[in-house]
Amino acid sequence: MEILNQITKKYHNKDIIPLYKSIPPFVDYQKGFGFKGVILWDSIIDKIQCHFCGNWFKALSGHLKKHSLDSYKYKEIISLNNNTPLLSLGIKIKEEKIASSKYQAKKKKLIKGNKKYFKHHQRKKEKPPKRLQFYNTFGTCDIQIKDKFLKLKEKLGRTPRKNEVYFHKLLTKRFGSYNKALMAFNCAIYRKRPNYSRFELLLFIKNFKKQYNRIPTADNFRRNNLFPNPTTYIRNFGSWNKAMILAL
Ligand SMILES: [Zn+2]
Repeated sequence: MEILNQITKKYHNKDIIPLYKSIPPFVDYQKGFGFKGVILWDSIIDKIQCHFCGNWFKALSGHLKKHSLDSYKYKEIISLNNNTPLLSLGIKIKEEKIASSKYQAKKKKLIKGNKKYFKHHQRKKEKPPKRLQFYNTFGTCDIQIKDKFLKLKEKLGRTPRKNEVYFHKLLTKRFGSYNKALMAFNCAIYRKRPNYSRFELLLFIKNFKKQYNRIPTADNFRRNNLFPNPTTYIRNFGSWNKAMILAL
C-alpha cells in the first residue's frame, strides 16, 4: 500500500505503479515528472512515462529523440540501471519472446573472437557507480534508509542503539560511522560510557542488588546508560555470570 501512497498522491491514479520492484520512499525528479530511479507504468493502458515531458509511451527510445537524448543518456540522468529496457510491460514480454525464439540462431555467433558480435556486448572494464534504481530495488537509497531508521526510532520511542539496527553495517558504509549517520538524521548521539575499574564495575552490581533486591540481568544494564555496558563485564571478567559471582 505504501508504494502507492507516494505515487497516488502525485498522480491521483491507483493504476500507476513502478514497473520494477522499488521500495519507497522515492526521490522526486524535480526537473520533470515521476521519481528518480523509478519507471512509472500505467497498468491500464500499458504505457510508461517519460520523465521529461510527462507523456506516456509503449517504448521510450524513439520518443527520446524529441528531447535530443539517447536511451543511455536518459538512464544516466534518471539514474536507471543501464540494462533496464525503456519499454512497457506488454512490449517487454513480446520482445523477450522474440529474443528467445531468435536465441538458437544467435548462439552460433556467440563464439569467442567474433568481433562483429561482441562489439556491442563488450563490457567496460571499470564498473560504473550504482544507479538509484539499484538502491530502490532493495530500499537502500539514502532517503529509504533514513525512513527505515526513523520508523525504528518511532517504534522504540528513542534513538536505536547500533546493535538494534539490523542495517547498521549499511549505515556505517554509507555515512562513515554509526554516529555520523545519527548526525545526518538529526538524532541524538549516544555518549560513550566512561571507563570503569573492575572494583567500580562490581560496585554497580552490588548497588543494584541493594536497591532492587534482585540480581540485575545483562539487559537491565544494556538498556540503561547510567550502568556500564554488559560487554565491559564480559571483557573484564570473562562472562556476565562470572562478574555476578565475584560481586555477590
Ligand atoms: Zn518526453
